[in-house]
Amino acid sequence: MAPALLSSDPVQSPTAILLRTPWKLPVAASAEGSYITLENGQKLLDAVGGAAVACIGNGHPKVVQAIKDQADKVSYVYNMQLTNQPAEELARQLINSSKGAFELVGFVSGGSEAMEAVIKLARQYFVEAKQPQRTNFIARNLSFHGNTVGTLSLAGHIARRAPYEAILNHSSFHHVSPAYAKRFQRPDETEEQYVERLRQELDDKFQELGPDTVIGFACETVVGASSGVVPPPRGYLKAMKSVCDKHGALFILDEVMSGMGRLGTLHAWEQYGDGITPDLQAVAKGLGGGYAPIGAILISKKVADGIRDASGVWKHGHTYQAHPISCAASLAVQQVIAEENLLANAREQGAYLSSLLRERLLAPNSITAPYVFDIRGSGCWWGIEFDFDGPECHKLDLKGQTFAVALQQRALNKGLVIMGMSGTASLDGTKGDAVLLSPAYNITREQVETIVNILVATTEELLTESFV
Ligand SMILES: *Cc1c(COP(=O)(O)O)cnc(C)c1O
Repeated sequence: MAPALLSSDPVQSPTAILLRTPWKLPVAASAEGSYITLENGQKLLDAVGGAAVACIGNGHPKVVQAIKDQADKVSYVYNMQLTNQPAEELARQLINSSKGAFELVGFVSGGSEAMEAVIKLARQYFVEAKQPQRTNFIARNLSFHGNTVGTLSLAGHIARRAPYEAILNHSSFHHVSPAYAKRFQRPDETEEQYVERLRQELDDKFQELGPDTVIGFACETVVGASSGVVPPPRGYLKAMKSVCDKHGALFILDEVMSGMGRLGTLHAWEQYGDGITPDLQAVAKGLGGGYAPIGAILISKKVADGIRDASGVWKHGHTYQAHPISCAASLAVQQVIAEENLLANAREQGAYLSSLLRERLLAPNSITAPYVFDIRGSGCWWGIEFDFDGPECHKLDLKGQTFAVALQQRALNKGLVIMGMSGTASLDGTKGDAVLLSPAYNITREQVETIVNILVATTEELLTESFV
């Protein structure tokens, strides 16, 4: 029997870290591939790559070597004095692999920094285009774009905004409905009509703000942490971009979680964009695969031309941007993904994962089926949404605990790392339980089976204990 990992006993092992969880965290001592070994010797299988970050697992020898080599060569130069070779090469590769969508790259150190930089570059673009009256952004409810004050203002993540609501920027950031068909498409509506309703809502928001005051509309191509892997309805991104184009505003995609191969294609818009590409895009998590902090903004020809025709420079920056070791690590991660054909493996193992999840969790007469609302995703990224409003739910007493979070903790005790999220299914953030699975792109068939076995057993156990 594994010891209780989530003990809240402060005497057991005090920490000087201000943690993000009300419970204490076990300490990771070593990690290889998708396995993490704790200080106490327990081995965990990571089914979520941390937070959809460790896309090729831990300790890949090629990436480790690239980091060591770069540390031996150049560990740091300041980006306003010198550039560096891995940053130049990584930028070139990001452009070359973008199917013509992007012409310039800017590096930062993570996802929030990337979205913050997108917000500022979009504003810079219009200042330099002599349209300084453009001061408004439109994003969506039930979205997440980062934890800085700017990106929290942009996003519609109720729980993360709550303590800061009074200091967020309400004058420049505005919100429209999420694109979440399973929850919000009306029963009397076709998918096409649903998309048209959302398109009209965005157009109305432009009119309300003044069409020539809008800088851009931003959304996650596939929604991650705020509602649990929600792809857009067919035609949605194209429709939203058409509104931006009509009013001369920018169409911005946040692919911090969904991009860089997570869905089995390098960019999520390759699958969900119906042929369109963004004017600006943020990527981060899968870019460095967790080997080093890095994020990037990817800049279309339209925005690149605008900047090149005016100031020609990026009026934004951080001390650590284009960090040589981060860029070398990221470059090696991207090379491993290409050389080992990992996007194909992500698609194959992801399809197997989802078929097993459906077969087991939705089996007629299973304990779980009445409470599983949706299983959705693509590539190596799957969300399981639970629902406790159905006809069978009077049989349960969850005793005030959040099901998805309780599931996450119990799975960890059984050796499986997953991510549980709450407040994912209603606009007021009070309803919704989703579990996110985002294993490494080099996950094996056997590991997929282990993930499903532990997850299903844990779900059954938690439900069984909750029956009244
Ligand atoms: C994780 C995430 C961010 C924030 O990235 P950090 O690296 O945590 O700052 C922004 N947008 C989306 C969609 C994310 O999933």
